[in-house]
Amino acid sequence: MIIVPEKEIAGLISPEAAFDAVEAVFGAMARGDAYNFPVIREAIGHEDALYGFKSGFDRAGLVLGLKAGGYWPNNLEKGLINHQSTVFLFDPDTGRFKAAVGGNLLTALRTAAASAVSIKHLARKDSKVLGMIGAGHQSAFQMRAAVKQRDFDRVIGWNMHPEMLGRLEETATELGLPFEAVDLDRLGAEADVIITITSSFDPILMDAQVKGGTHIACMGTDTKGKQEVEAALVARATLFTDEVAQATSIGECQHAVAQGLIGEDAITEIGAVINGTHPGRTSADEVTLFDGTGVGLQDLAVASAAVDLALEKGVAIEVDF
Ligand code: NAD
Repeated sequence: MIIVPEKEIAGLISPEAAFDAVEAVFGAMARGDAYNFPVIREAIGHEDALYGFKSGFDRAGLVLGLKAGGYWPNNLEKGLINHQSTVFLFDPDTGRFKAAVGGNLLTALRTAAASAVSIKHLARKDSKVLGMIGAGHQSAFQMRAAVKQRDFDRVIGWNMHPEMLGRLEETATELGLPFEAVDLDRLGAEADVIITITSSFDPILMDAQVKGGTHIACMGTDTKGKQEVEAALVARATLFTDEVAQATSIGECQHAVAQGLIGEDAITEIGAVINGTHPGRTSADEVTLFDGTGVGLQDLAVASAAVDLALEKGVAIEVDF
């Protein structure tokens, strides 16, 4: 078996490589060539941690495995990031253990890749202003991946905890873009693309605040009860997701579905747009919304790419197992 340690991931997987892996597996999901197994997520009653497994099989890419990990809220005091995960891959021909891959950076890269894929396929081509809601660990990865998809000329941002906005400003500066902290009215009125990446349990962005033609990537809501945008905004938008079953149960769409504003037939897998079987955006004034819930196949896709690159570059640790 092969071990790819967390410390090697940054030198192996670029945002571009993560983008290609995630776009390909979303396409495979929509063709029925890849599927996710049911998610397990448990509050373990220790350290306030949430722990679980996301898993699946990509028959097209021949990638089988799972990501084990979760959220440990007290980790920052220990000098560790709150999200901790490891990906385990198995040989789909024999079931033998194939690889253990550090999953922390991969999680951020595959999450940012998902919203970037949605921007590529759904945002207006003339999008100029990127709006960020959220300024936590994931937000910098999100911004870096997003700016590669359109010719943005500025970034505006809002965060519930204003003291964290420095992260957005620093990231925009690193990308050569001006940044301005704004209120939510201005954010909704000026941004052509909006990424939401928070841990909110209440709507932050309201329907009336968002202008026509905007593309919104809702990336923070990945658990029952979380919410980042008003359900009326979800109901107004043309809806896309990574996986419909997750969107309606743990994603941003859960609230509009529960309130009877939309049915699950209103939500299209982004893979259908990637594969050319759904037109995606059909007008310049339409609001498109991507509900990025985070599926196991994304993790497996980037981990498999990391294993290939680690072998190629000679940094994989090979163990007789
Ligand atoms: P973080 O802890 O570093 O940052 C949290 C962010 O949420 C900050 O911007 C904070 O100000 C904001 N926030 C916290 N409580 C809030 C509240 N009650 N109302 C509004 N905003 C609030 O977290 P992170 O690592 O940046 O992750 C952000 C979110 O993304 C988390 O909810 C995480 O579960 C989710 N996530 C989703 C995926 C996916 O695939 N969809 C993947 C990874 C993380």
